[in-house]
Amino acid sequence: PAPAAYGTGKKSLGTRRGLNSKFVPPVMNREEDDLGDQVANVVTRAVLKTGGCEASGSGAALFEGIDEEKLKGIEPKMVELIMNEIMDSGPPLTWDDVAGLEFAKKTIKEIVVWPMLRPDIFTGLRGPPKGLLLFGPPGTGKTLIGKCIACQSKSTFFCISASSLTSKWVGEGEKMVRALFAVARARQPAVVFIDEIDSLLTQRTDGENEASRRIKTEFLVQLDGASTSSDDRILVIGATNRPQEIDEAARRRFVKRLYIPLPETEARRSIITNLLRQQEYALSDRDLDHICTHTDGFSGADMATLCREAALGPIRDMSFGDIENIAADQVRAITFKDFEAALRNVKPSVSQKDLDIYIDWNNTFGSGS
Ligand code: ADP
Repeated sequence: PAPAAYGTGKKSLGTRRGLNSKFVPPVMNREEDDLGDQVANVVTRAVLKTGGCEASGSGAALFEGIDEEKLKGIEPKMVELIMNEIMDSGPPLTWDDVAGLEFAKKTIKEIVVWPMLRPDIFTGLRGPPKGLLLFGPPGTGKTLIGKCIACQSKSTFFCISASSLTSKWVGEGEKMVRALFAVARARQPAVVFIDEIDSLLTQRTDGENEASRRIKTEFLVQLDGASTSSDDRILVIGATNRPQEIDEAARRRFVKRLYIPLPETEARRSIITNLLRQQEYALSDRDLDHICTHTDGFSGADMATLCREAALGPIRDMSFGDIENIAADQVRAITFKDFEAALRNVKPSVSQKDLDIYIDWNNTFGSGS
């Protein structure tokens, strides 16, 4: 699969906050209040999408292959919405697509993926944790790992941004959480990936309104349900770049808390070579060394931005007329000069101060490194 396409599979629900931007409690939004209207926009004859590595079942009816018994009491419209907007299918991913992060990958394979593949062996003491927290700077591969876990454990992948529960579905967030877990149970084994989990489980209570309190309560109920039912094979993954915002009750429920740090030199190198794989480029080993040493502090996403910027170099050298007429194979290769120019424009997005917060939190609450 084309690594450049990883990011494109990301759902658009909700937007991310930076490390220092404050969580804004939801306010009633009349325009977005009517779920019916939103549902009407969803393709009505939906195709059942399968998560993980399975192929999409084109033409299959929406409810085919699903345990309908588990959807009792859930509005069909909501089920459809979740299947279309939150259930995710994308190109298959392997652990090699996730650069670096050896400790996290090893731990995850052992404690999460194998148990999901062989629940008969991993029982009792060996039972998997039902909640996994991935924390660290933005753009370091947390979502990528979530997808990879789903893919490698042959599970359906559900991906939602927690802030969309409180902002996009104002008034419906609580129902949405219940429906999400019902669909996950009906489509298990399942991985439920909740991005920006901090906005759902924040310890800040002042200013918190009734609606978000109810969403939070429902989420905790569902999380507890998923972890106590021995039959259900559902893994809940919370991702956050603001772990310090998560309250104690929520922390306790995410038993495994893995730090997903910035990529090391070697990881940055493999991100570059992966991304350049589909392009013509002329970079020696020394050039690559040089780029890697000059990108200390870059996140994986920053590296992707840098590569995109450098890839535009050959195009920027052309006149508009050339761009219109040139044969695709005549575009010159990407060179070190293009990277030098790109490095002048692209800067690391994570500050040392932010990194210190993650390292501190990892030392206090993380599960090793
Ligand atoms: P996060 O969820 O941690 O904010 P993502 O997983 O969405 O970050 O990563 C954003 C993009 O950055 C990915 O689509 C990928 O192109 C790149 N990226 C980040 N980390 C890695 C990594 N460890 N290996 C490969 N690509 C990465």
